[in-house]
Amino acid sequence: MSTTQAPPAEGLVLDARIPDGPIETKWRRWLDAHQLVGPRNRPHYRIVVVGTGLAGASAAASLGAQGFKVDSFCFQDTPRRAHSIAAQGGINAAKDFANEGDAVKRLFYDTIKGGDFRSREANVWRLAEVSTSIIDQAVAQGVPFNREYGGQLATRSFGGVLVKRTFYSRGQTGQQLLLGAYSALQHQVAQGNVTVHNRHEVLDVVLVDGVARGVIARNLITGEIERHAADCVVLASGGYSNVFYLSTNAMGSNVTAAWKATRRGALFANPCYTQIHPTCIPQSGEYQSKLTLMSESLRNDGRIWVPRKPKDERKPNDIPEEERYYFLEERYPAFGNLAPRDIASRAAKVACDQGLGVGGTGRGVYLDFRDEIERQGRAAIEAKYLNLFQMYQRITGDDPFETPMMIYPAPHYTMGGLWVDYELQTTIPGLFAIGESNFSDHGANRLGASALMQALADGYFIAPHTVMHRLATTPKSDVDETHEAFAEAEDGVRGLLERFLATTGSKAPQTIHRELGEIMLDKCGMLRTEESLTTAIEQIRGIRARFWDELRVDGRADEFNPSLEYAGRLHDFIELAELMCEDALRREESCGGHFRGEHETEDGEARRDDERFATATAWEYPAEGLRPDGGFRPHDEPLTFSEVKLATRSYK
Ligand SMILES: Cc1cc2nc3c(=O)[nH]c(=O)nc-3n(C[C@H](O)[C@H](O)[C@H](O)COP(=O)(O)OP(=O)(O)OC[C@H]3O[C@@H](n4cnc5c(N)ncnc54)[C@H](O)[C@@H]3O)c2cc1C
Repeated sequence: MSTTQAPPAEGLVLDARIPDGPIETKWRRWLDAHQLVGPRNRPHYRIVVVGTGLAGASAAASLGAQGFKVDSFCFQDTPRRAHSIAAQGGINAAKDFANEGDAVKRLFYDTIKGGDFRSREANVWRLAEVSTSIIDQAVAQGVPFNREYGGQLATRSFGGVLVKRTFYSRGQTGQQLLLGAYSALQHQVAQGNVTVHNRHEVLDVVLVDGVARGVIARNLITGEIERHAADCVVLASGGYSNVFYLSTNAMGSNVTAAWKATRRGALFANPCYTQIHPTCIPQSGEYQSKLTLMSESLRNDGRIWVPRKPKDERKPNDIPEEERYYFLEERYPAFGNLAPRDIASRAAKVACDQGLGVGGTGRGVYLDFRDEIERQGRAAIEAKYLNLFQMYQRITGDDPFETPMMIYPAPHYTMGGLWVDYELQTTIPGLFAIGESNFSDHGANRLGASALMQALADGYFIAPHTVMHRLATTPKSDVDETHEAFAEAEDGVRGLLERFLATTGSKAPQTIHRELGEIMLDKCGMLRTEESLTTAIEQIRGIRARFWDELRVDGRADEFNPSLEYAGRLHDFIELAELMCEDALRREESCGGHFRGEHETEDGEARRDDERFATATAWEYPAEGLRPDGGFRPHDEPLTFSEVKLATRSYK
């Protein structure tokens, strides 16, 4: 292990509280035994849910439907604009409508293998188990999934699987699912059970005697700082891909809510596990602030290739078949273009590094529909992907019906997140984390169409029960907003905002963020080495040391002030970035999206070290605040595998 790493901390034992017994009955037995709050008592409990994406909206709606009083927060102007709306390609479920022999066990196995054997078996089994209920729930809400001619729900394939288990609404699956969850949420608003606080940013979690008892939020329109007491807090605040500055995530997506919880003592697990998605529109210029995803579903019918001749300047349609290098089909004949994302991304990078890349920067590969348009006809391709094709044409000016798309990998999803136990509770009692904000199910790489599945599994089917169980088994709190812990937390939030506004440097938050992102992408992106990570840590510490002198935030705290919001989010990203590099440095193996140059097989695949690293690493924020030399303390949760045999992942 590297000399800069902190030794594992003593004292704290991570207990995932996994029920005993056979894996296929664990969740059923947990449900049978869990405690309920009496229906008449439920309105006396308040629950804060941070986030209105698929995880947060479904959790808030479900807890409201159970009769609890819920305060739901989002920073957008409506819950419907949560980042989940961007999800395109689909949602997995082991329903086997395609009659291919799919089963819960197969979805479980694919997910464990897809995550390169770095996730917790019991959680993944439960995810596969409840996946089927999600589709029923969504259909009952009226979500317009694509259907076959006869009316049956249609499915397609996503990467890393050999069956068609992905349900979809053309290329707008997230939007349609979110409208379903939103209508359930609004129903509870109308019932008086849920209060939605749009345009509010949660800036701290309040703890009383070590237990989560509420949040401090800023009204982003008026700047007012508000206290919200609760019996339980559920974070559903999404992922942290925007640490890379350029990503496919919504511009506003950030880590602040999860990071404030980390500063309060919740452990942050596997921060280095990030997903770089293979099919995004390549960056076009230095001042670009957003990258656009082209859904993985396109790999069902699009073939990925580069010219065999380096620096070939011919137009793609002028390059004959024998001069095209279909690198995924050649390297991974069994899965071909549907190899998992980490593998497909790395293969594209390798091809470009060999000088075979296309486009102005040489960092692009083709995604070509020519053969399938010929085979299936234009109408069939339109039915599946029209909005994606239109989006591509609007952005690039090229029509994918006429010429191949050009794509390149981009930061997209974060598998790391707040450490949670089987009940999705963090190491802070009363603080739960669900959806992309937790680390629970995807290990070192997430398979496509599994994020929506996890967000809705957590929100509709797991958290409502585990939160209720927590409330039923702990004494009712009488803490309210007048408690001194709220005053202390509020003072901290105000103090930080004032400090941002007192800066007199010359750099806008975005400028510093771009600098951070370049370091992260270059040194902690698709390829990491001890050298790159050590350099990145030094450079990030440099950014942190200069931050307060260089930053400039104009305006006031008591008004709508996007620059002030941005500064706060950036402040947290800088700390997180350092931890990501520490985590990547400590994990001396390659697995999934975490590819360490020192640990690859002879044919360029990831080489795991199961002896030393079959663990989830959960990091503790230093009690005395971040010192210049980091000081995060790692705690390892051993991962035990009884249902699957640890094996080298192969998609060949
Ligand atoms: C372009 C794109 C396409 C995708 N396509 C697919 C797909 O086809 N299938 C699939 O399975 N996955 C897909 N994903 C991934 C998937 O969309 C996300 O992982 C998932 O939607 C995350 O849901 P969530 O509810 O956890 O978080 P989000 O949808 O990110 O919601 C986060 C919520 O938290 C709120 N929030 C955050 N911080 C604060 C704060 N401090 N205070 C108040 N509110 C806060 C936000 O306002 C928001 O409401 C895609 C992702 C992208 C970027």
